[in-house]
Amino acid sequence: KKAKNGGDRYLFYTQRMNDSVAGRLTLESQLRRALERQEYVLHYQPKIHLATGQLTGVEALIRWQNPRTGLVPPGDFIPVLEETGLICEVGRWALQQAIADHLRWRTMGLTAVRIAVNVSALQLRDRGFIAQVQAAVGVDALASSGLEIEITESLAMDNVAASIGSLLALRAMGITVAIDDFGTGFSSLSYLAKLPVDTLKIDRAFVIDMTSGAQGLALVSTIIELAHSLKLKVVAEGVETAQQQSLLRAMGCDEMQGYLFSRPVPRELLESQFLAPAATQPMAAFTASTVR
Ligand code: C2E
Ligand code: MG
Ligand code: MG
Ligand code: MG
Repeated sequence: KKAKNGGDRYLFYTQRMNDSVAGRLTLESQLRRALERQEYVLHYQPKIHLATGQLTGVEALIRWQNPRTGLVPPGDFIPVLEETGLICEVGRWALQQAIADHLRWRTMGLTAVRIAVNVSALQLRDRGFIAQVQAAVGVDALASSGLEIEITESLAMDNVAASIGSLLALRAMGITVAIDDFGTGFSSLSYLAKLPVDTLKIDRAFVIDMTSGAQGLALVSTIIELAHSLKLKVVAEGVETAQQQSLLRAMGCDEMQGYLFSRPVPRELLESQFLAPAATQPMAAFTASTVR
C-alpha cells in the first residue's frame, strides 16, 4: 500500500548507506595510509602539581596531520580506528613514539617528567598488548617507571575481570594506571576499589559544573575525597580558569591539566616552552649563583 513512498524511501536510504559506507572505506584506507606515511603526531599537554605549580608530566594526545585538510583531532578518527581494529596498530605507534620522546627528555636530563598515553578498550583486551608494551619499554626500567597508561572509566568497568589481568601486568612493569574521564561512566564503587589503578582523572564536565553551584562543587570535592580514601592520586581535567584552579587546590586535588596552563602542544613547543629552560639552563643558573 505504501509501496511508492516506501520504495522511494528505500532507494534514498540505500543511496545514503552506500555513500556512508564508501565514505567510511575511504577514511579507513586514509587512516591506514596515514600510519605508513607517518602522518600521525603526538601533541603533549602538561600536567601541573597544584600545590607547587611544578610540571609533573605530560599527556600524549594523538592528531592526524592530513596533508590535504590539516590537523585532525582524535575525536574525528579514533572511533573509526576502533571500529576497524586499526587502533591496535596506531596505538602501538603512539606508545612507541611517546617512549622515544620520553627517552629524549631523559637524555636532556629531565627525569621527573612522566608521560601518559591513552589506551583504548580494544588495545587493552588485545592478546598482544602486554607484550607490545614490554617490547616498547624494552629493558629500560626508567621508561616504564615514567609511564602512565590512561584508560577510560567505561572501558575498565565494562569487563572488569578481563581488565584486571592487563592492569596488574602493567603495574608489575612499574607502569602506573589512570582512570580517565572519571565520573562519566557510573562505575560501581566496589569495582573501583578492586581495580589496580593509581590515579583518577576527574572529567572536564565536573570541573565546568564546579562553579555553577553548590552541587557541582560538592561532587568534585566528593570525588577528590573518594580518590584519596582509596589512596589514589587525583587529577582534574580541563581546567580553564583561575577560579577553578584555586577551588581545586583548596579541595586538595593533586594535579591539574587544562587550557589555563597550556593546550596540548607539539613536542618542539613543549621542549622550548616547558622543558628546555630546566634542561639547558642549570649550568648557567649554577654559574650565576656561584659568581654572585
Ligand atoms: P582525554 O584523554 O580525556 O584527553 C583530554 C582531552 O581534553 C583532549 O582532547 C584535550 O585536548 C582536551 N582538553 C584538555 N584541557 C582542556 C581544556 O582546558 N578545555 C577543553 N575544552 N579541552 C581540554 P583531544 O586531544 O581532542 O583528545 C580527545 C580524546 O581522544 C582523548 O580524551 C582520548 O580519549 C582520545 N585520544 C587522544 N589520543 C589518543 C591515543 O593516542 N590513543 C587513544 N586510544 N585515544 C586517544
Ligand atoms: Mg586521557
Ligand atoms: Mg580525559
Ligand atoms: Mg575527557
